[in-house]
Amino acid sequence: MISSAAKPIAIISDIHGNLEALQAVLAHIASQGIETIYCLGDVVGYGPNPRECVEHCYGMQLCLLGNHDNGALFDPDGFSSGAEKAIFWTRRQLEDQSRSGMQERWAFLARLPRTHRDGDLMFVHGSPRSPLNEYVFPEDIYNQRKIERIFSFIQKFCFQGHTHVPGVFTENCRFYSPSEIGDTYELSDQKLMINVGSVGQPRDGDSRSCYVTLNGTTVRFHRVQYDAEATCRKILAIPELDEFFGNRLLQGK
Ligand code: ZN
Repeated sequence: MISSAAKPIAIISDIHGNLEALQAVLAHIASQGIETIYCLGDVVGYGPNPRECVEHCYGMQLCLLGNHDNGALFDPDGFSSGAEKAIFWTRRQLEDQSRSGMQERWAFLARLPRTHRDGDLMFVHGSPRSPLNEYVFPEDIYNQRKIERIFSFIQKFCFQGHTHVPGVFTENCRFYSPSEIGDTYELSDQKLMINVGSVGQPRDGDSRSCYVTLNGTTVRFHRVQYDAEATCRKILAIPELDEFFGNRLLQGK
């Protein structure tokens, strides 16, 4: 018997300050009558609307801390120079005293947890071994030791983000992209790690936003079209944000 969420939940991740993408995904979730939303972190970083995206997360049932959120709060460590520059710009936006709500934004980010458990379900940003920073890429299935170690931290099912590449990992070193499984996967007795993809910066070659719903034992991957050109234009107009962060949105890479 699998104990999963009683009510359907939407699991989103890696919004990265992309308001157009977040609004499109929230509308898509609402159109299915789903009221419970879990966000797996990286609300900010790279994108042009960090304040608005943080404020959209206030009403969600869960929001985890991502490495970019952590970088904006504390000293950024281990980022590329472009990403670091974006983090310092993001921090200035969040700190902007001339905009209302500065205290609330900081207080919200500062109390985000790094992991969450609901019965058999576990939620992290990166990996269950290192919730904030470890990447688990599809090609890691060829590193059996890594996959075994990571799965040793999972009781049953773990939902994650961070790589921006959606799909399902099994304990016996298989990876299934959403297209290989018809966008759905049934939870059973086997342990799983499920990457929910990215709302605001997809990197699997599909520029549409990605997220997951969990209804009973059915995991479903969703893709949502949004106005990526509008977000790209905003990024190109901000000198502190690398042009690459805008252009890659159009390619989903
Ligand atoms: Zn991210």
